[in-house]
Amino acid sequence: MTRSVFVINAGSSSLKYQLVDVDSGVALASGLIERIGETSSDAKHEVPGREAVVERRMIPDHEKAFGWVLHQFTEHGPDLGAARLLGIGHRVVQGGARFDRAVRIDDDVAQQIDDLAPLAPLHNPANLQGIRSARATFAGYPHVAVFDTAFHLTIPPAAHRYAIEARIAAEHRVRKYGFHGTSHQFVSRRLAELLERPLEDVNSIVLHLGNGASATAVRGGRSVETSMGMTPLAGLVMGTRSGDIDPGVIFHLHRVAGLSVDEIDTLLNKRSGLLGLTGTGDMRDVLQAADAGMPRAVEALEIVGHRLRGTVGAYLAHLGRTDAIAFTAGIGENAARVREVALEGLEGLGIVLDPERNAGRGERRISADGSPIEVWVVPTNEELEIARQVAALVEP
Ligand code: AMP
Repeated sequence: MTRSVFVINAGSSSLKYQLVDVDSGVALASGLIERIGETSSDAKHEVPGREAVVERRMIPDHEKAFGWVLHQFTEHGPDLGAARLLGIGHRVVQGGARFDRAVRIDDDVAQQIDDLAPLAPLHNPANLQGIRSARATFAGYPHVAVFDTAFHLTIPPAAHRYAIEARIAAEHRVRKYGFHGTSHQFVSRRLAELLERPLEDVNSIVLHLGNGASATAVRGGRSVETSMGMTPLAGLVMGTRSGDIDPGVIFHLHRVAGLSVDEIDTLLNKRSGLLGLTGTGDMRDVLQAADAGMPRAVEALEIVGHRLRGTVGAYLAHLGRTDAIAFTAGIGENAARVREVALEGLEGLGIVLDPERNAGRGERRISADGSPIEVWVVPTNEELEIARQVAALVEP
């Protein structure tokens, strides 16, 4: 008998959802509403094997958006009763130092998510808006928050503390939290299955390379280091985010270039990374331009590769013994050239790619036979991971 979970990712003006069959992992329905609150919103509801419902209409707020979604399920299916809906899973970006796992949402938890808003001002308030509206629309079901940061709460203090005045760090909750935890957890667990070894015995490096990108060192199923920091701005070069820079650059841009703090925030989060380097934040376009010999795109790939190799090297050192490296997300799963530059020249460290396997598709090993460290492509599935965590909590 089917058991399903309704997985929700609410942004400030968007709502993404998926109804997931927990046991098979199949998406029974999915949808996206964009430009909520604007004069015209785009809404889409898809059921596999049927024509998608696409509407352009005014959807003023999240509560109305959920109303639209519920109506689609009633009109076009699938039937939520027949799908035996266990509960609703909410993706929440920032769980702070408090939430080390998924948690059932009550008023107290909602308040704590609100209290964490200063640490994730763009995301937590939007996630909370989704939670409030969904609790009103899907009353009677358990609602569960699944945090992007939770998987990383096992990172030891030596790795999560910044070397700044301790009092200020404590007062303002300044430390590394890390993000993409749901994806890193899913992929590291799947990797152990693929290696046919118990999770507790496997040390791995997961490279989640999408529009946002992060790397995680996982020891025996627990995150011990990750590249994003207090915010998702740190670490690797991303679509529009700079990743690591000398913090002194910020003072320079303020004092010498005359940019305000908000302008620098926008510059580093929205106009840097691939976009800043090449004029496009989309890796497909960067690769095409690099193939055509465009110097800026060629150089951008070199910067991306340099940062990735440095991160992989550091994590090999942190782990001491590494069994496997996994690539995931839009770029990690699809861009053979990026995987190649990420591991180029690391043969001496025990990482040997097989070019033919690297050029293939789907979940597979891409390292050469005999490579001491195996390399895999493992497609991520954050919705399924959220659904499983909800199911484990409400129907253990
Ligand atoms: P995500 O955030 O995981 O959806 O990943 C988005 C990124 O993946 C974008 O930079 C896309 O350009 C990149 N991407 C998606 N498909 C491909 C592909 N076939 N080749 C290269 N990059 C891709």
